[in-house]
Amino acid sequence: MASSTKYIFITGGVASSLGKGIIGASLAKLLQSRGFSVTIQKFDPYLNIDPGTLNPYEHGECYVTEDGAETDLDLGHYERFLNTPTSQSNNITTGRIYNNVITKERKGEYLGKTVQVIPHITDEIKANFFKLGEDGKYDVVITEIGGCVGDIESLPFIEAVRQAKWDIGAHNSLVIHLTLIPYLSAAKELKTKPTQHSVKQLLEAGIQPDILVCRTEHHLPLEVKKKLALFCNVQLNCVIESMDAESIYDVPLMMKKEKLDERVITKLKLTPKNPSELDHWKEFLGRLKNPTQEVNIGLIGKYVSLPDAYKSIIEAFIHAGAAMECKVHLKLISSEELNRDNIKDKLKELHGVLVAPGFGERGLEGKLEAVRYARTHKVPFLGVCLGMQVAVIEFAKNVLGLKDANSTEMNPDTVDPVIALMEEQKNIDQMGGTMRLGSYPCELIKGTKSSAAYGKTKIHERHRHRYEFNNKYLQQFEKNGMIASGLNPDTGLVEIVEIKDHPWFVGTQFHPEYKSTVLSPHPLFVRFIKAAIENKINQN
Ligand code: GLN
Repeated sequence: MASSTKYIFITGGVASSLGKGIIGASLAKLLQSRGFSVTIQKFDPYLNIDPGTLNPYEHGECYVTEDGAETDLDLGHYERFLNTPTSQSNNITTGRIYNNVITKERKGEYLGKTVQVIPHITDEIKANFFKLGEDGKYDVVITEIGGCVGDIESLPFIEAVRQAKWDIGAHNSLVIHLTLIPYLSAAKELKTKPTQHSVKQLLEAGIQPDILVCRTEHHLPLEVKKKLALFCNVQLNCVIESMDAESIYDVPLMMKKEKLDERVITKLKLTPKNPSELDHWKEFLGRLKNPTQEVNIGLIGKYVSLPDAYKSIIEAFIHAGAAMECKVHLKLISSEELNRDNIKDKLKELHGVLVAPGFGERGLEGKLEAVRYARTHKVPFLGVCLGMQVAVIEFAKNVLGLKDANSTEMNPDTVDPVIALMEEQKNIDQMGGTMRLGSYPCELIKGTKSSAAYGKTKIHERHRHRYEFNNKYLQQFEKNGMIASGLNPDTGLVEIVEIKDHPWFVGTQFHPEYKSTVLSPHPLFVRFIKAAIENKINQN
């Protein structure tokens, strides 16, 4: 354990989905703005080794890091707020902890001891709490504990927090408890009792929270704050109000106003390296809130009933929209609702079409129609991963005349497998962690829409897929106007396709959305919005 690194733990009470990830990311942003190097990690109490195998309907999007870890979507918020990459070490699940312990047990590392939750599981959790702080790279490590206090499955994490606080000693760690203060409209009253109970539950586990962050729909009167302070043994100025925000990007400034960062700095005896510097953030908010134009973009996918399944894409549009001072009205459209007869009607209001990533055959027909519409009506198009593959299939079918063209994911026996499995993937029978994952280099061809968007030719982007463009067909595609504008320099795999004779039609095998942040909006999303604005102007 690096002695100079400070550790902040964030627990949650009363209800889930209060936004621990956003509070953590906002605090991290405020500390970063004072010159500290900060990272955030998330500990999830479920038994999956990672969220890679979870259905997006269960848990929202799976976020992929540079090193190819499939992680919780909160890591996306950390990167978008902090503009620094996270890694496998930033997301640990109970499944991974048990897997590590059981692997050690099988290797005989416990020397004949009975392996138990305490101390072996808790020791493994603690080792992971401290891992990122070990090399002294970070002044502060923030750890978000998933779930709610009182859940059976998060008990070992809470016990590990208790021990960790004790191990690192005073002023080196603190616990922030995020809680809900419900408003009973019939009584016209804010209620503190649920919070009192959840703090009692923490106390039973041996943890006294240092700061309460209270989610609320109404301002907390001083009386309510006093009551919370008295019954929860927290200093009055450490009862922090967190009102519902219009945008998640407002939260850092709201927390600054509430002095969350100052309380943390005082309690951890930190010395800020510079005065708080948030000019860029404020500029971003200024552009976000004062758009000079607006466009309608369609996001075509199969998980649209749970927008969290497309979290990073949705946020990338917010960043790109702000960069262009353009309000992006994003319409989530289920691909299963689209067919040749209704496509025009369903998409006619759109100034740009994005076909989303995904797995499996369901909704393929609707996605093909959406691509065909965008291609033939010259509507700006961005295809992401499966979206790019569908664009390739559509082009093969309707331009090259290969009527049976498909991906072998959808039809293993297709006559024209324009998208197919890579050799290395053919013998894999496990599901978890077996895709092409994480950051790969890509070389852009000069003079293309892609190289114009990036303004350079060497890029790195993150992947999460099994299937690839089948290079056997490349010449035929290029002769007919769909070119490979980005290639993997090591393997020759096609990473980007675009149509030359179209205002803006780009498909990427990688996921650009994972790298879009407030500080660096993704160039492809920015160019796509620009093309949508131009399309709208031309229409009028
Ligand atoms: N299902 C496709 C593949 O595995 C695309 C995956 C994705 O869109 N992330 O290649």
